[in-house]
Order: sequence, then C-alpha cells, then structure tokens
Amino acid sequence: MILTDLIPFLKRIDAKPKRSLSQNFLIDPNVVKKIIETAEVKPGDTVLEIGPGPGSLTHALLDAGAKVYAVEMDSVFARELGTIQNEKLKVFESDILKFPIERLPPNIKIVANLPYHITTPILEKIFAHPFSSLTIMVQKEVADRMSADSGSKIFGSLSVFVQFYSNVHSKFTVPASCFYPRPKVDSTVIRLDARQIPDVHETTFFTLVHKAFQQRRKMITSTLDLPKEDVRTALIAIGARPDARPENLSLSQWVELTQHLS
Ligand code: SAM
Repeated sequence: MILTDLIPFLKRIDAKPKRSLSQNFLIDPNVVKKIIETAEVKPGDTVLEIGPGPGSLTHALLDAGAKVYAVEMDSVFARELGTIQNEKLKVFESDILKFPIERLPPNIKIVANLPYHITTPILEKIFAHPFSSLTIMVQKEVADRMSADSGSKIFGSLSVFVQFYSNVHSKFTVPASCFYPRPKVDSTVIRLDARQIPDVHETTFFTLVHKAFQQRRKMITSTLDLPKEDVRTALIAIGARPDARPENLSLSQWVELTQHLS
C-alpha cells in the first residue's frame, strides 16, 4: 500500500498509528516484493504473519499462493482483515506472545514486519517450536547484532541466541522513508533458517553466556561464578586463550565450554 492509499484507508477504518504497538506501516511495494522473494514464498506454503496491520504483506503473501495465518493484536486491523474474502486467510485477533503457535502446522514459514518493541520475546517464543524460516523486518542495529561474527564488538548474547537456533540466510536494509509514520531508525529484513540446534543443555548454556556478556569487558575466568582454575582449564581445552573475553569465543566454542564445565 502506497502512502496515498494508506492515508484514506486509515481514515476509513478510523485508525491512527499507535506507537505503543510499534505501528510503522510499509508504504513501499518494492520492499514488500523483496520480502516475499527473500522468504521464497511459493504456492502451497503455509505462512504465519505476525502483525499484519493494514495488510500490505498479507495481500502479497496471498498473491504468492500461500495459506496465511495472520495474528494481529489491534482489533481495528484484525476486524478489517477479517472482511477479506479468501479461504486461504485466517485472521486471529491476539497478542502473538499469548497465541498458541504450537497449534499451527509445524515447520511453517514466518514472515513479518515485527513490532520492534517485542522482537526478542517473539523470537524466544518462535524458537521454542519447530519452524522452517523466519523472514523479519527488525531495527537495523538489532539485525546487525543478530548476525555479528565472534570477535566483532557487537557480537553479544543476542548473536549467540539467534545463531544457536538459526542460520542467517540473507539480509537487506530498508530506509525509514519506506514507512508511515517514519521510524527514527533504519530497518533491516533478515532471513533466519532453522538449524539443527547444538547438543548442549540449553539452560546451562544460556546462563553461562548471559553471565559472561553481562560483563563483556572482563575475562571469562572472572565472570562465571565458577572456580577460576576450572574455567581456565576448560578454555585451554577448547583451544581458546585463558584470558579470553566473551566475544572472543565462537558459538561452537561456547557450546564446547559449556560441555566442559557441566
Ligand atoms: N505488517 C504491517 C506492515 O508491514 O505495514 C504492520 C507492521 S507494524 C511494524 C507492526 C504490527 O504489529 C502492527 O500492526 C501492530 O498492531 C502489530 N502488533 C503489535 N504488537 C503485537 C502483538 N503483541 N501481537 C500481534 N500483533 C502486534
């Protein structure tokens, strides 16, 4: 939907963009097209769309031949989308964080221009269930942290978390001018493909990672609440330096370190 269609549409349904729901709507059809291409949506695919809003992406997903489950929290948009006559579209008025995604078919594709304020809780929910791929618009800075390599200054617990559950497939930047209202920052579409998750006790793994990255400038030996000598021995055993900082370890080294320490 371009701006000259969106404004009268919002007026007709009596909706004003709500900042509390991160409502920045896409007004660039080329970006919508590129999202569908990035997600490789094909006829017969089943897609979960989070936060369809006025429905630009929803229509494009349907046009690509997908069956769409659209979960929208704002009743005005959910009601309006519910008037679309298309048996391939099912609209749910719900908070995605409370929505029973386990009732949807497993291994579906997820496509969304995400409500930015709840990006991490949404990822936590999605990663807890089998999915195929996740093509999402997020803040550029968040996408950069998600896809950062170890050794970089922005490699942190978000990078480890996202890369534990998925492989970054591709991404592209979307300027603020492609949205109404304009957000203060640029955005990035990032595609994450499900991967075989590492063979490690997840709670222990993430507890260690979070502890270490809370004090990212300190050596891992001093932050893990474990005997320094044990951590030092484990670091040497996995081929890392004993004075390593958290961003110096790759994801697989974090997995190995957890295995050595548990
Ligand atoms: N998909 C539309 C687009 O690209 O133009 C809208 C994207 S807008 C960034 C985010 C959408 O998520 C809004 O429609 C908003 O109402 C919806 N939303 C916000 N919080 C939500 C939640 N907890 N559960 C479901 N939808 C939510």
